[in-house]
Amino acid sequence: MTERLCRACGEWHDLGQPWPRVCVDHFKGRTNARSALPRPMVISDTLDGLQSMVSGERFDSKADLRRHYRANGVIEVGNETITPRDNDDIATAPIEAEVARAFDQLS
Ligand SMILES: [Zn+2]
Repeated sequence: MTERLCRACGEWHDLGQPWPRVCVDHFKGRTNARSALPRPMVISDTLDGLQSMVSGERFDSKADLRRHYRANGVIEVGNETITPRDNDDIATAPIEAEVARAFDQLS
């Protein structure tokens, strides 16, 4: 069983179960880094010679690097917002049986 500390209620929740609806605030943005003042938010395209994980080539532009990754079938991950899973329809009995069988093979 994998658990995660809830930022909404401070309790641990089982990730195998659907996230409690009352704790949905857990998934809200974590920082208030953006000012409440109205102004455009500009994200620079420049990089400081970031190296491609595919070819080792150096890039000075995020757009060029992403174009290079896309052309090579690489998917960048890491900034996704985690959404609560609604996995009521997943039957756990076959999974538990398979895990039990694997434990039997090891012992
Ligand atoms: Zn909670």
